[in-house]
Amino acid sequence: MTEFHAPVDDILQSLNLAGRDLPGWDGETAAEIVGHFASFAEGVLAPLDEIGDRQGCRLENGRVRMPDGFGDGFRQLAEGGWQGLRVPEEFDGMGLDAMIAAAVSEIFSGANHSLQMVTNLVPGAVEVLLHFGSDEQKARYIPALAGGELLATMALTEPGAGSDLSAIRTRAVQDGGGWRIEGEKIFISGGDQDMSAGILHLVLARSGPADSGVRGLSLFLCPSDLDGARNAVTVTRIEEKMGLHASPTCQLAFDGAQADLIGEEGGGLKAMFTLMNHARIDVALQGVAHAARAADLARRYAAERVQGRGADGQPVTIDQHPDVARMIAECDRIARAGRHLCHLTQAAIERGDARDFVDFMTPICKYACTEGGIRAADLAIQVLGGYGYLQEYRAEQNWRDARICSIYEGANGIHARMTATRGLSLNGGAGARAFAAFLRESDAAMVDAAAAWEAEAARLAALSDPLPEAHAFMEMTSDLALRASAARLAAG
Ligand SMILES: Cc1cc2nc3c(=O)[nH]c(=O)nc-3n(C[C@H](O)[C@H](O)[C@H](O)COP(=O)(O)OP(=O)(O)OC[C@H]3O[C@@H](n4cnc5c(N)ncnc54)[C@H](O)[C@@H]3O)c2cc1C
Repeated sequence: MTEFHAPVDDILQSLNLAGRDLPGWDGETAAEIVGHFASFAEGVLAPLDEIGDRQGCRLENGRVRMPDGFGDGFRQLAEGGWQGLRVPEEFDGMGLDAMIAAAVSEIFSGANHSLQMVTNLVPGAVEVLLHFGSDEQKARYIPALAGGELLATMALTEPGAGSDLSAIRTRAVQDGGGWRIEGEKIFISGGDQDMSAGILHLVLARSGPADSGVRGLSLFLCPSDLDGARNAVTVTRIEEKMGLHASPTCQLAFDGAQADLIGEEGGGLKAMFTLMNHARIDVALQGVAHAARAADLARRYAAERVQGRGADGQPVTIDQHPDVARMIAECDRIARAGRHLCHLTQAAIERGDARDFVDFMTPICKYACTEGGIRAADLAIQVLGGYGYLQEYRAEQNWRDARICSIYEGANGIHARMTATRGLSLNGGAGARAFAAFLRESDAAMVDAAAAWEAEAARLAALSDPLPEAHAFMEMTSDLALRASAARLAAG
């Protein structure tokens, strides 16, 4: 009962609806690839998830050791070409679209969130290289990332710089034709591992003066290895944490590490946002994956557990009790509506004609789906009763692994803050207008709710300090976004 079942039919239904207007959308190819990956995830990746949770990662002689079987699982993943799913064919990838990649990523997270964390910064790193890299950088790194010889990290956070990246102190200094990085990064997912031959660290560091704020930040490519020798990047510790035990969260020391500037000097945050925007939808889909897993665990358990009696006095399974049915239905609603919201946003990114909508919607996806994933994981524990609190059915692992999603990739409080301030004023309020239209056009029953939301948005925009109301506004916004996407899904 604890096995992972990829929600393939639900994913394809949502994907086909969201993707049908995209030029060249091919539902058959999507079904084939998603089905193929689902079998691989169920057979290879998911069985590693429990081992990973129990064993965790170890730091031995300065190197991270992954749990048993992870190296082989990753080898199969790379040999299957999955690391290069979205990478253009000219760089040895499969050249598939982001919609299919979103489906694959959700299934991966549901099967094994920890491993997904370590491997799935690659698509974002490739996007950064494609946008900002020189021809030489693209040729050197993209095929190696697509083939699995390299994995990538996103190295932003420091002890004094979490939500506030303007406080970054890691320094980058010019050294002949190249750069050297000096400083400390913390909480770096996959900062080291023993699955890929090397790691490409994407490091945000200060190339300008100490007081230069975000304008003094540049983005650097810092490989773990330089022609056979180790670069000066060392793991000083891995964190003990409540979940994602098989995802090594590393403290890294950069001790004059050789690095290559990518993009313009001082343009680090802009380049990093390319990676982070990709990662935000991906984290939203992690929330969806946890909600879908919660729904599946709860539904299967409740269909077999006999407690209480029905109206006819006969013993019944607990899914016959309205309160249990309510909880399962809520897990399901969160998963389906959240998934469709992400797919609709991803489709808008692919069309490239709705920038304001995408900018407004991306943090909403992140907030709604990650809060939803935690809520659903919590409900599944309740459905399983005492067994939910035990390790046996792993509903508790689902909750522990889901919990990080509302913290990383911008803590949800930061997304609420940004939506209530910059989000509402962005491009003269165009993002907010696009969101209201999205609500209105979802369903006739949403017209009044859309008008109420617009009135609330206008009231907030007029406040001298909207921050005390940012959370309530984000709750209202994400709730309506989920209702609208559920209505669109139901309408077909
Ligand atoms: C398992 C794990 C993996 C991670 N992986 C990576 C990684 O790969 N790369 C990387 O660079 N980082 C990574 N991180 C770091 C993560 O992105 C940060 O933890 C996150 O950005 C929050 O920063 P912080 O922990 O310093 O919290 P803080 O910034 O101290 O925030 C604490 C609380 O205060 C609130 N807060 C802070 N400032 C404001 C404000 N201005 N307005 C309103 N509220 C505010 C936040 O919303 C939050 O609730 C990871 C963290 C974990 C735990």
